[in-house]
Amino acid sequence: MVVKELGNQKIEALAAKLQGKIVMPTDADYTEARKVYNGMIDKHPGMIVKCLDVADVVNAVNFGRENNLLVAIRGGGHNGGGLGICNEGLVIDLSGIKYVRVDTSDNTVRVGGGNLWREVDHATHAFGLAVPAGIVSSTGVGGLTLGGGVGHLSRKYGLTIDNLLEADMVLADGSLVTVNADLYPDLFWAIRGGGGNFGIVTSFKFQAHPVKTVFGGPTLWPIEQTEEIMEWYDGFLSNAPDELNGFIATMVIPGPPFPEHLHKKQFCGIVWCYTGDMDKAKEVFKPVLEKKPVFEHVGEMPYPTMQSLFDGLFPPHMHWYWRADFFDGLGPEISAQHLKFGSNIPTPLSQMHLYPISGAAGRVAADKTPWAYRDTKYAGVIVGVDPDPKNADKITNWCKDYWTALHPFSSGGAYSNFMMDEGQDRVKASYRHNYPRLVEIKTRYDPQNLFRVNQNIKPKNSE
Ligand SMILES: Cc1cc2nc3c(=O)[nH]c(=O)nc-3n(C[C@H](O)[C@H](O)[C@H](O)COP(=O)(O)OP(=O)(O)OC[C@H]3O[C@@H](n4cnc5c(N)ncnc54)[C@H](O)[C@@H]3O)c2cc1C
Repeated sequence: MVVKELGNQKIEALAAKLQGKIVMPTDADYTEARKVYNGMIDKHPGMIVKCLDVADVVNAVNFGRENNLLVAIRGGGHNGGGLGICNEGLVIDLSGIKYVRVDTSDNTVRVGGGNLWREVDHATHAFGLAVPAGIVSSTGVGGLTLGGGVGHLSRKYGLTIDNLLEADMVLADGSLVTVNADLYPDLFWAIRGGGGNFGIVTSFKFQAHPVKTVFGGPTLWPIEQTEEIMEWYDGFLSNAPDELNGFIATMVIPGPPFPEHLHKKQFCGIVWCYTGDMDKAKEVFKPVLEKKPVFEHVGEMPYPTMQSLFDGLFPPHMHWYWRADFFDGLGPEISAQHLKFGSNIPTPLSQMHLYPISGAAGRVAADKTPWAYRDTKYAGVIVGVDPDPKNADKITNWCKDYWTALHPFSSGGAYSNFMMDEGQDRVKASYRHNYPRLVEIKTRYDPQNLFRVNQNIKPKNSE
């Protein structure tokens, strides 16, 4: 069933039950409401329910199920593949369910299902605390957390899911459950990496950590030094304290705020974040500076500044094409491909990043959460990015060619939140040995696959 085949009466009856509102294609705010972060995604949902509380989510889920509609769940709307939206169906938009409550008695944080990370960082920073998240502050808490959550604090405090203590969820049958280590432990396991497959999370509870000021920022080397820098970085990070995180990239410096002599040139860059004792930071960074970067901007800064360092470079609605893989190391055959494709970046904002999965993130057992690749070393992502839709083919082709050249050296799967449209086999490969258990849980709680606009774990009867 598609929304336009439902009568007005049904939609009006739903509207009467909501605190929030329904946005229909004929409404003035529809164009804005259907936009997601990735401008390449141009989907036209039949209706968008802007929820304001859990009751709205329950009503919307029941409406979607009873009318056999395609249902998408929208958190922060950042997903590369546009999995927060759908064509013709029902979008359950959580952006109105926002609050952050910090409990300093045990350093825990309650967060609404529709919050963005910048709102969490702002609230926790006031108490000298932080929850591990990603590297761009406009990303949604919902999608990032449910997929895993890789970022500047991964080596010290683990992935975001390693810090998830509890969640409230609306299941496919419309019931609300609280899940944690004791309540619905199967669901609690599944949502720590299994995405939005199992229900709509309306509230998250996280463990926060004492992080207030960090020492970090970017260092750049000419792209010609990529092989040398990758080899050095791989060894250096393997012996570095957990307090030091750094992701490595091939990139172009697009323009300001970087100095003019760097503009439009290609670089191998590392973005560092050190959370240890500030008095020791200079000593920790000594070997980095001894590698003589052509540009460095590392220093002390508040954690929320680190978290939003790149927000200005990546405003919403540009065109993005994504490809991803995990890597067990950065051997010469791998770095040679990075040199080749990094020397040929098609547009100023297109980049490749490798995020370390080591330290605390790597010490979690590979079946403790669905996030199966704990023994890999890097979560890699290639993004073709440009504001001009005319360059869509150019960025897509570069991204695919780069990925195709590297894929034979990968560990097999990819981080689900870095994938776009890689297909069902890749979803299975990414969950590895955990996939069958995810299928069991999906079959138990969502046998009709109501929640299927995601990197989908198919219930048994639909395989
Ligand atoms: C600029 C940028 C930078 C990024 N950086 C990082 C990074 O550093 N680290 C990292 O790990 N990832 C990063 N990501 C990837 C990010 O984790 C994913 O795009 C993620 O899906 C975004 O979540 P969202 O809530 O904003 O997305 P949405 O598009 O709203 O949703 C994505 C998926 O999650 C589901 N979902 C969202 N909220 C809920 C909820 N409350 N309950 C149930 N299901 C829900 C949706 O159904 C959908 O399937 C980045 C993405 C972008 C665009």
